[in-house]
Amino acid sequence: MTDKTIGVLALQGDFREHAASLKAIGQNPVLVRRPHELEQVDALIVPGGESTAMWKLAATAEMFEPVRKRVADGMPVFGTCAGMIMMADRIVDAAAGQQTFGGLPITVRRNAFGRQTESFEEPIAFEGVGELTGVFIRAPWVESVEDGVEVLARVTSGPATGRIVAVRQGSLLAVSFHPELTTDYRVHEYFVAMVESA
Ligand code: GLN
Repeated sequence: MTDKTIGVLALQGDFREHAASLKAIGQNPVLVRRPHELEQVDALIVPGGESTAMWKLAATAEMFEPVRKRVADGMPVFGTCAGMIMMADRIVDAAAGQQTFGGLPITVRRNAFGRQTESFEEPIAFEGVGELTGVFIRAPWVESVEDGVEVLARVTSGPATGRIVAVRQGSLLAVSFHPELTTDYRVHEYFVAMVESA
């Protein structure tokens, strides 16, 4: 249990599931929709959902500048799926004009696994966590990473074998699957440990 407050960006997507996962491991999460709510948290989760919708809602809510500033100041951030896209510096197959918070020097490919695999589960070996089941829904993968980005997990079977699905750089953690849709809380615990040591 940390005395730090973890926020969940609640503009769009499965933020309720992230909040429930955090509660299940003894945290007291706060939903973040506006800049003044961001000021009250020590860390932020950016949920899965639809990155194009999240981009537009974040622009309307004037969240881009405050989030980017906090990221630059070292706030721990954990993004899942669309949240990973929002953390990436570059997107392949972005919508026209699509913007991200950025901060993580990676290139992600949206909807990378293709239509025939819209939703699937895959066993993953996650560095520092262990074996887990990754739930993927129209997921991105990480096309490439710059120096200093640690690759934490890759797909281990099927046509996408070897593709990067979890990365970390410093206080930024991003995964292309959805631990918040499972009752395996180890990835959330991993993030809480990052927040504690930040
Ligand atoms: N394909 C979605 C996007 O581009 C992400 C899907 C998800 O978060 N489950 O944002």
